[in-house]
Amino acid sequence: MKQDYYEILGVSKQASAQEIKKAYRRLALRYHPDRNPGDKEAEELFKQAAEAYEVLRDPEKRRLYDLYGHQGISGAGFQGFHGTDDIFSTFSDLFEDFFGFSTGHGRRGASPGPERGSDLRYDITIDFLEAATGTEKEIEIERLETCQECGGTGAGKNSQVITCPTCHGSGHVVRSEGFFQVSTTCHECMGRGTIITHPCQACGGEGRRPQRQFIKVRIPAGVDTGARLRLRNEGEAGKRGGPRGDLYIVIHVESHEFFKRQGNDVFCEIPVSIAQVCLGDTIEVPTLDGKEQLKIPPGTQSGEVFRLKGKGFADLRGFAPGDQLIKIKVVTPTKLTERQKELLREFMEIEKEKKQGGFFKKLFKKVEFH
Ligand SMILES: [Zn+2]
Ligand SMILES: [Zn+2]
Repeated sequence: MKQDYYEILGVSKQASAQEIKKAYRRLALRYHPDRNPGDKEAEELFKQAAEAYEVLRDPEKRRLYDLYGHQGISGAGFQGFHGTDDIFSTFSDLFEDFFGFSTGHGRRGASPGPERGSDLRYDITIDFLEAATGTEKEIEIERLETCQECGGTGAGKNSQVITCPTCHGSGHVVRSEGFFQVSTTCHECMGRGTIITHPCQACGGEGRRPQRQFIKVRIPAGVDTGARLRLRNEGEAGKRGGPRGDLYIVIHVESHEFFKRQGNDVFCEIPVSIAQVCLGDTIEVPTLDGKEQLKIPPGTQSGEVFRLKGKGFADLRGFAPGDQLIKIKVVTPTKLTERQKELLREFMEIEKEKKQGGFFKKLFKKVEFH
């Protein structure tokens, strides 16, 4: 069985984002492969901690994990943990945080200056008919916003931004290795060239703070499970004045007890009586947006399919909408009154006579020919 993520990090279920980050930082620094070369156990513990952090740092993943456990984050369509690549990018984020101030260190390769905020993903479930008509939903997300206290600089009151004493502002340190000179990113300032003497208290020098936000999402008619809506600039705030990320809304559509969808067409089955198919009738059929009259001609067979043109789902790319396909299902009555039975007996007698009449006529014709 998989170990509980909170246990792995050694924090309580109520731990704040800050506490989780702290706990992970401590474990990651202790078990990082660079510090424990060849130690398989340390590597395993490092991976576990990274995986736990990857989930608990993300408010949406954490919420799902709290609700459904490991199942909740490995479910269909959910982007789970991606393996080593993410471990190390998580680690570089952590390394950045470790110094307690905002640095210019990017995910891969140092690049001081503004950095675009992360994209966010939000999974939303809507019901079948909402997918048909389109709908508007209000969602609540937690995302990083520019810290109001420091205006995103990460610098606290009375703080100064000073040139990094280690690299003298270049962001790089050059050291000699044998005959070679190797230039590496300065670890004091993580390549930014400057450091902040007193990080902002409110955001811990990050320049951004997690905040709950309500966002209205317009879901267009015709969406199906797996559809992704991109809300530009609704992701996390950028670093140091960088542009915001985007928010991706991933749609899940619930099934319907009566309607089934296939492409943009919608299928349903309507039960009718023997008398209705024999004599023909006009019936009322439910559609995605109300109801419609359908004429059943006399002699309709059970299983026959009728089409209501354009009564399916709207097409997201602007093509013609789908159709509604109605399958007729003749239901054999099980509870009959005496009068109904009497009429059916009479009906059966006539059917027999018709058949026999036809049979004898044929036989007679045959005899005539010979
Ligand atoms: Zn701040
Ligand atoms: Zn430096």
